[in-house]
Amino acid sequence: MPRCRQYITQRLRQAFPAPCLLCHVRSINSALCDDCTDDLPQLGLCCPHCATPLNLQTTCGACLAKPPVQDSSLSLYHYSPPVSTLIIALKHHDQRTLTDLFADEFVKRLAQNKVPSPDCLVAIPLHPERLRQRGYNQALEFARALSTRLDIPVRLDLLDRVKNTPIQAGLSLKQRQQNMRHAFKSPFVPNAMRGKNAPQHIALVDDVMTTGLTFNIAAKALRDIGVNHIEVWSIARTSNAK
Ligand SMILES: [Zn+2]
Ligand SMILES: [Zn+2]
Repeated sequence: MPRCRQYITQRLRQAFPAPCLLCHVRSINSALCDDCTDDLPQLGLCCPHCATPLNLQTTCGACLAKPPVQDSSLSLYHYSPPVSTLIIALKHHDQRTLTDLFADEFVKRLAQNKVPSPDCLVAIPLHPERLRQRGYNQALEFARALSTRLDIPVRLDLLDRVKNTPIQAGLSLKQRQQNMRHAFKSPFVPNAMRGKNAPQHIALVDDVMTTGLTFNIAAKALRDIGVNHIEVWSIARTSNAK
């Protein structure tokens, strides 16, 4: 069904080219024209564990001092204009067609890495109250777009958001940590995951990685049920230190 939706979206776009969200030139390919897509600020050298932008590809000081819960992190872009504007459009203005563009670009990046594929994708969940207000979870929309392209299932049953955390922007790291404590929980207990279908390798998916705190706490909840290998995938990464 998602493949079918992707096909229909492509055909509609070819029949009725929509203006590029940034330069307004009509584009038959995606939400952005090719030139604007190529100009997006790619995240290059970074820490492989937390994706913090660096001058060379190496483990950052923060990860050396205290390794994050996840094994690795992959992010496509710097969280700076125009990517930040596009993510706000995706998140708050229902520009969900952007997930197709971001997923296409993410798949190209994955192909360069040549690492084993995860068994499943898990989107960072929204609290049900937040989901009701927004109407959709942008992380899940992105995960579904990736799922279609990579042929990897999205698992909705592995992780719940059990705490409706306030908006984190503007808070100190300590306040954020307090807010996020016990924010996620898996409905599974460790022994229940030892069946044949228990995923051992998971990619956690979100739109933006900021301090990495959300990913860390979600990854911990998955670690607690016995998941072996956890990657975190995001569209964009802020450059602020942890
Ligand atoms: Zn454009
Ligand atoms: Zn790091």
